[in-house]
Amino acid sequence: MNIGVVGHVDHGKTTLVNALTGTWTDRHSEEVRRGISIRLGYADATFYKCDHCEGTEAYSTKPVCPACGSEGKPFRSISFVDAPGHETLMATMLSGSALMDGAMLVISTTEKCPQPQTKEHLMALGLVGIKKIVIVQNKIDVVSQKEAIENYQQIKDFVKGTVAENAPIIPVSAQKGINIGALVQALDQTIPEPVRDPDAEPVMLVARSFDINKPGCNWKEVKGGVVGGSLIRGILHDGDPIEIRPGRQTQVENRIKWIPIITEITSINAGTKTVEEATPGGLLGIGTKLDPALTKSDALAGQVVGHVGKLPPVWDKIRCQVTLMERVVGATSELVIEPLKFNEPLMLSVGTAVTVGVVTSTKKEAVEVQLKRPVCAEPGARIAISRQVGARWRLIGMGVLSE
Ligand code: GDP
Ligand code: MG
Repeated sequence: MNIGVVGHVDHGKTTLVNALTGTWTDRHSEEVRRGISIRLGYADATFYKCDHCEGTEAYSTKPVCPACGSEGKPFRSISFVDAPGHETLMATMLSGSALMDGAMLVISTTEKCPQPQTKEHLMALGLVGIKKIVIVQNKIDVVSQKEAIENYQQIKDFVKGTVAENAPIIPVSAQKGINIGALVQALDQTIPEPVRDPDAEPVMLVARSFDINKPGCNWKEVKGGVVGGSLIRGILHDGDPIEIRPGRQTQVENRIKWIPIITEITSINAGTKTVEEATPGGLLGIGTKLDPALTKSDALAGQVVGHVGKLPPVWDKIRCQVTLMERVVGATSELVIEPLKFNEPLMLSVGTAVTVGVVTSTKKEAVEVQLKRPVCAEPGARIAISRQVGARWRLIGMGVLSE
């Protein structure tokens, strides 16, 4: 199961993910060492329950119960997806919301609630339909009880009438590891294990791709290209023949064409383990027989992997049903969002793909966009829509891909 971690900058998202998983999703040296840069900030945890303790004390993310020292029972595996600070990546995360089974909204007690991104992220969760939310009231170690209660009241007022209206609010200190058991319990109770169809055709969204060979290595030892990402449904096995769409760009008589790539899985890494089969949840690295020149430097990011001939269609023009937000929150001034205009450029995030397009038609909520780069997606897929406001792309709404 995947849980998204959202909230205002510096409210403690990364520290909290570390408190729950022991992994720093921010640390670049670690990424380099593993040869897999964790752009989407995945970190895995196992939830444990202790038979000897009661209430929130019985829950932890440690095999040894922190309260009594006896051995806990592992009962759930969770991947946390740390919201990238960068706004375009936030759009990526939202359009990849098929990946997310629920979310934690992290709010610091040390600032008045709501801060701009607290608002923006909660609105975005509502927009993409993530309803299973736990609110984490962080940094309680630096405020008095009175201040914490005042802040709690501000949070309550702020979430009134939103998807998070009835979300539990758990006070913690991510930095000092205080009340993490209560958070584990709330996550367990609020976000149930999703039902997955084991017979579904596999669809993996590629977030990264690499050439894992050292410069100057012997040609006999060259390893095939690696793609990293998340399986949103189905099962992939080591040895499976696979197709990657939209694939490779080529030019045929002045016309640009995209040709699907066909290859074979030669290894699967899930988290830090090598496995024979991959199931949804968490981050995967898949070894292939591809020329690593095709996969180096994220060249295949945004593509989709599945069984040969079983992938969703590729679109170079899309039609979608659009819902715009009322205002651009997160900006210092709250700008009203105008309707989409004919010929205006948009940035669209579809799954892990980010593409730019131009609006070719707008009829009520149905909008047509001609894409610079085609995307592979299923009708019904969610699309995060960003518009250029000043010098930046800002998230302004969501679309649902039409047939
Ligand atoms: P992010 O931007 O939401 O990922 O926030 P970070 O996890 O990077 O934290 C921002 C700052 O707040 C860092 O200096 C953390 O050490 C600090 N911080 C995070 N959690 C706590 C906490 O529970 N208590 C205190 N006192 N500081 C915290
Ligand atoms: Mg962070």
